[in-house]
Amino acid sequence: MAKKLSEIGEFGLIDEVIAPRFKDLLGEDITGIGDDCAVMPFTDDEVQIVTTDLLIEEIHFLRAKISAFQLGFKALAVNLSDIAGMGGTPTGTFLSVAFPKNLGVAWIEKFMEGYRSLSEKENVPLLGGDTTNTPDNIVINVAVTGRMKKSEVKRRSHARPGDYVAVPDNLGDSPGGLQYILDGLPEDKFSESLLKQHLTPYPKVSEGRWLAKKEQVHAMMDVSDGVGSDLHHIVKASNVAAELYLEKTPMSDNLREASKKYGWNAEELAYSGGEDYTLLLTVDPEAFEKLAGDFSKTFGRPLQVIGKIIEGEPGLKYLRNGKPLDGPGKGFSHF
Ligand code: ADP
Ligand code: MG
Repeated sequence: MAKKLSEIGEFGLIDEVIAPRFKDLLGEDITGIGDDCAVMPFTDDEVQIVTTDLLIEEIHFLRAKISAFQLGFKALAVNLSDIAGMGGTPTGTFLSVAFPKNLGVAWIEKFMEGYRSLSEKENVPLLGGDTTNTPDNIVINVAVTGRMKKSEVKRRSHARPGDYVAVPDNLGDSPGGLQYILDGLPEDKFSESLLKQHLTPYPKVSEGRWLAKKEQVHAMMDVSDGVGSDLHHIVKASNVAAELYLEKTPMSDNLREASKKYGWNAEELAYSGGEDYTLLLTVDPEAFEKLAGDFSKTFGRPLQVIGKIIEGEPGLKYLRNGKPLDGPGKGFSHF
């Protein structure tokens, strides 16, 4: 029987059906499919980077559960997060939208204000896009260009055995916020920060740029699908394996408390929930302490070790206090 998309999954589709058909057309010095951004030669010592992401109503957001302002902000944030994952600086954005004809102009104005608000904070202009109508659900596509020093590009493929795996933020707040939305839970003292993280995640562009300048940071990417899925991309691209130490999972008190109250598995949310839009990096273990100290002085929060890169077939091993266990999940995948 003919294979269905659900059998190969999102990453099977990209790796088996899409990417191989274009490998032979790739010019020298160009990185195409497979990292947070494509990387293309620009000047002698700089490269241009490009990324794009799609947001579909009812798949990525519910119109009744996110304000137009928040959605405009978030549509750009998720794209800038991929620029952050490479360590680059955004230079321009393109916004394509399909809106139903009965959508209020006031809604669109608020959407653009949200988009503008993050554009202004990160000092990046809107340079173009496309506009069309849709029978029903809103479709939003954003593309972002950026630039950076060639020598500072952080790829998924540069992790080395022995590296610490680290993140600069708590994990799971955004999926915790989503849980409030999906379950229609009333706001309480834990929900505000979780909802904020879900509805208006702030892309870690400054942190990414800072980390890109450190040669002891070997691999980096942004966390969009959950560390359980995203770290898998790093180990696969680097042909290594990784251990994750569950007892070290950085989680906010609000996520822990809300999880207790509603019976959620907080670790499951932290590793598989997705949409945290933070960074995931691997660092030379000998340089870690100094790097983490400098990071904390600069950004006011710590870099936290959650695991280690090891030799082996690409895969993740979850440990709790040194004892192996089955992972809390594999992260989010479409299909
Ligand atoms: P991210 O979450 O960092 O945006 P994805 O997991 O969406 O990355 O995609 C992984 C890689 O596959 C990226 O390099 C992306 O550009 C590429 N990719 C995804 N979908 C397509 C597609 N339809 N055609 C070509 N490349 C794609
Ligand atoms: Mg990404």
